[in-house]
Parts: sequence; structure tokens; C-alpha cells
Amino acid sequence: MNLHEYQGKELLSSFGVRIQRGLVAQNAEEAVAKAKQLTQETGTGWHVIKAQVHAGGRGKGGGVKLAKNLDEVKEIAGQIIGMDLVTPQTSAEGKRVHQVLVAEDVYYPGDSEPSEFYMSVLLNRSNGRNMIMYSTEGGMDIEEVAEKTPHLIFTEEIDPATGILPFQARRVAFNLGLSGAAFKEMTKFVTALYTAYDKSDASLFEINPVLKTSDDKIMAVDAKVTLDDNALYRHKDLAELRDFREESPIEVEAGELGLNYVDLDGNVGCMVNGAGLAMATMDLIKQAGGEPANFLDVGGTADAARVEAAFRIILKDPNVKAILINIFGGIVRCDRVAQGVVDAYKNMGDAIQVPIIVRLQGTNADIAKELIDNSGLDVLSATEFQEAADKVQQVLS
Ligand code: GDP
Ligand code: MN
Repeated sequence: MNLHEYQGKELLSSFGVRIQRGLVAQNAEEAVAKAKQLTQETGTGWHVIKAQVHAGGRGKGGGVKLAKNLDEVKEIAGQIIGMDLVTPQTSAEGKRVHQVLVAEDVYYPGDSEPSEFYMSVLLNRSNGRNMIMYSTEGGMDIEEVAEKTPHLIFTEEIDPATGILPFQARRVAFNLGLSGAAFKEMTKFVTALYTAYDKSDASLFEINPVLKTSDDKIMAVDAKVTLDDNALYRHKDLAELRDFREESPIEVEAGELGLNYVDLDGNVGCMVNGAGLAMATMDLIKQAGGEPANFLDVGGTADAARVEAAFRIILKDPNVKAILINIFGGIVRCDRVAQGVVDAYKNMGDAIQVPIIVRLQGTNADIAKELIDNSGLDVLSATEFQEAADKVQQVLS
């Protein structure tokens, strides 16, 4: 689950990480009120208005702007809220902005060269350790830094059993070229950041930029936070931060039905049990010249109710021209699945207007095929993988 920047910053702050302070607003009038409040609390004269969407590169797309007075706050917030923000990380249609963060301006006027660093915390899967990745080259595309000047990116491996140790925090500050008060501030910053990552069961923190002000404060100006979905059950307060407006409505509905569904661009709907088989099925569809419309793992219990739920989800996508059901009956018997398909089909009446190809393999596959073939419904059966793919191609051409 991804958090908005303002939510991520609140999370960091609760663990003692210094942040650029800000208040979220839903419309231009509220933005002005929040800007006034922020001036009272922080003394800031200028404000930065930042679009809150789940995508990076907002600055480049015109989603981050400096306002030098309250009229500009109102004008800029009015422009940004409601716009479809296009950034290097969104689709061409962009993402609709519903709210902005009104933040204090932390790039002090007269501050000729504020230092911007890059810092992320993530899991290194190859050795099962956490990793802090950081660079002096903050504020820009870290991908570009990695490509052109990889020696400017440092990593610090953290043993999850001990957490970050003082000498490691000092090494980070040293490699970033800091000294004096800024050095000390950085060791506190990185230690608190790592602790926040660990305690919130995050899978990614990316802070770009981390800013060093001219008075030697170190703070998070941006925050991309991804939490591990599998750990949300023990963070009820964080789970509530989920913003469904940022997610595909079909995926949200599928999730509520307990289906593992990912929306894709093709025209062949897939209903499969098991994630591995689902991946293989998508490959096969591609090899046969088609394009999968989705990834869908119905899980272990493919009974009539689940199959029907899966049909309804797949058919919400108007691009679907055929549906391929590919089930391996190991624990679940194929004849039960076949009966489920037939029952669901009958139950749905006219809702299904596209051809369906069913391939059932495993326990009682022969009985299942008979059931499908004798059902009188417009369903094609197959026993071999390739045969199923060929039938999909036939009905599409
Ligand atoms: P992103 O483009 O989505 O990564 O959004 P960021 O939060 O990183 O903001 C983009 C850029 O806006 C930063 O790299 C800064 O250069 C600039 N910015 C952010 N906060 C301030 C601020 O307080 N004052 C000024 N002048 N610029 C800021
Ligand atoms: Mn950023």
C-alpha cells in the first residue's frame, strides 16, 4: 500500500524524523486557511503547494509550485486541485489531483546552495537484510545518477536483528560530506528514518530530496512510503490511510471479493487458480498472438460463487472479447469447478456475451469435460494447454 506524501511525512515525524511541515487542503479556500495557520506555527513567509497523488516526478509535471503570498496560494491551489497531473511516472491521461499539501518554504531566500541528498530504505532480497541507499545527488532522477555516476550512490546494509548501529549512521553522514552540527543531525535523521521503516513494516521509503538547510538542519522534503500489505493487520491506524481514489476501481472490488486481480490492457480475460499458472497462462496467450486483459488468481476454492464473482469482475472490462478459464484440479476436483462454471453461467443469464474456453486438467478432468460438453452452453472445452490457446485464437479471429 502506498501513502500520500503528507501521510508519509506524518508517519516519519511520529518517529522523530524532521520533516518539511505542511497541512493538507481539499480546495483553494482551505489552502489559504492552512497557509495562514502554517505561518503562525512555523513563521514561514512563502509556501510550497504540492499535488498529492500516488506518483513521483510531480515537480516536472507542474504539480509543485512556490507561492509568495496568500493570493498566489489561492491561485496555485485552485490550478492544481482538479487537474490531471501528468508526470514521467503516470500514464498519458495523468492522475486527477483531489488535494494539495500546503508546505512551509524551506529553501531560504539567499540560501545560494541548499544541499539536496537522496535517501531510501528498502529490503535487499538477495541477502535478507535491509539497506539504506543514499547519495549526494538528491533532488534529481536517481535512475539517471545510477546510470551516469554510479560511484555517487552509497549503500549501507543493516542487520534487521540489531537495527542501525551508531557507526553506520556516522558513516552515512561522513559519506555525504557533512561535518559539525549537520553531521550530528544526519546521524539522528538516518537513525530515526530506519527505525520508522522497521517499526511501520514498510517495504520502501524514498526521501528525495533530503535537505540540508544553511542553518544545518536535515529534513525530509518529500516522502514516498510503501507499506507491506501483509503486515497491515498489525497497523490498523496505517491501514486506514488507504486512499481508494488512487487505485483501479475494479481491483478494489476484486480485493473485497478476495480475488487476486490485476487490470491489464489486452482483450482475453483470464480466470486461473494459482499465481504461477496464471503467469504461465498469460505467457501462452501472448505466444498464441493474443493479449491478456487481466491477471486473475481465483485461489484454491473455485466453486460456483467464486467463479461467478470472477466472471463479473472480468466482464467489467469492456475490452474483453473472450475468456479463458485455466484450472488445475489438485485438491479442488475438476468436476466441481466445471459444475461451478456451468452454474455461474446459467445464473448470469445474458450477462455473458463473449465466448468462453475452459481448460480443466487434473483430478476428474474427464468427467469435467463431459459436464461442459453436455451443458448446452456456449463454452468450448480443452484438455491441453496449447489446445486452449489455439481455441482462444480461433474465437478472436
Ligand atoms: P516530486 O517532484 O514528486 O519528487 O516532488 P518533491 O516533493 O521532491 O518536490 C519537487 C521539487 O520541488 C524539489 O526537488 C524541490 O526542488 C522543490 N521544492 C520542494 N520544497 C520546496 C521549498 O520549500 N521551497 C522551494 N523553493 N522549492 C521546494
Ligand atoms: Mn521528490
